[in-house]
Amino acid sequence: MQGPWEEREGVLCYRTGGGVELYRLPVRLFPELDGYVYLVLADSHRILVDTGSGLPESQADLIRGFEVVRDRYRRPVGFEDLTAILITHGHIDHFGGLNFVRQRSAAPVFIHELDRRVLANFPERLITVAREIRGFLSHAGVSPQRQSVLLSMYLDMKTMFQSTPVEGCLDDGQRLFGFIEVHHTPGHCPGQICLRIDEILLTSDHILAHTTPHQAPERITRYTGLGHYLDSLRRIAALPGIALAFGGHEEPILDLYGRVAAIERFHRQRLERVLEICREPRTIAEISWALFGRQYGYGVLLALLEAGAHVEYLYDRGYLQVENLDQLEQDPNAPVRYRRL
Ligand SMILES: [Zn+2]
Ligand SMILES: [Zn+2]
Repeated sequence: MQGPWEEREGVLCYRTGGGVELYRLPVRLFPELDGYVYLVLADSHRILVDTGSGLPESQADLIRGFEVVRDRYRRPVGFEDLTAILITHGHIDHFGGLNFVRQRSAAPVFIHELDRRVLANFPERLITVAREIRGFLSHAGVSPQRQSVLLSMYLDMKTMFQSTPVEGCLDDGQRLFGFIEVHHTPGHCPGQICLRIDEILLTSDHILAHTTPHQAPERITRYTGLGHYLDSLRRIAALPGIALAFGGHEEPILDLYGRVAAIERFHRQRLERVLEICREPRTIAEISWALFGRQYGYGVLLALLEAGAHVEYLYDRGYLQVENLDQLEQDPNAPVRYRRL
């Protein structure tokens, strides 16, 4: 893809109007997921934004990215030169490589306070969220056997990260190091942040060039959910003068405002579709099936969560009602059936 940047051996470099150098290092995160780590150079600041997943191929790509910046761009920056590590949100594909980086760098780690405990106590987050997911799956009409399979897949992540202390917080409206503006954009993740540097915005997983970022119901984790997400989209749309955006995955976004409008439209259409499906009483599992068809492996859980986020949004705002109140009164474990009002 062509744009107002340079690209050498897969590492893209963009210089902002204020003279900040941004390097985008490509990393393989998981077998089916690629993404980017960013290196920001300004005056004496050497800032790493995200760390990759921590899997061996992700670590190898990170090392290679630094080598390209050193050899092809003539900027000799090593892990030991980093002055700060910023984590854009508490998802493993963005922070899983933190232990690897910390073995090589004494730089302080920053994350939004709503995701701080993900880093500081990773098993706690996984185990407490798993409990909430179990409640959600039962509500959604997923059988107990299936619930156990899905939850064990989720808890498999437990061995992927060793908890680590956090030195600093990224707060909404903060001007970090005098040149990075922090915007808190909860929805995809509670502590999701976007970072503005001059005319560019690092959107992480809040806004991606092609994929509509994944949503889950707020009943599982506070500050997620479609309501927060759509509010956060509007907050970004109201920021003037963003010429270019870089996501945590996929290509740079040349028209950020157009992309925000397209994602909003996409969710409005999906909400309409859920209302359509709920002309007859439906469980979330049935709605997920009607929206996404058969899914496999972890995709089953992602589809249920996405459907659940849309149902929750509509129910909270009075567009859906619970159809089987009598049954729920008798049996607290019965799945909830929703019907369009
Ligand atoms: Zn994410
Ligand atoms: Zn991601």
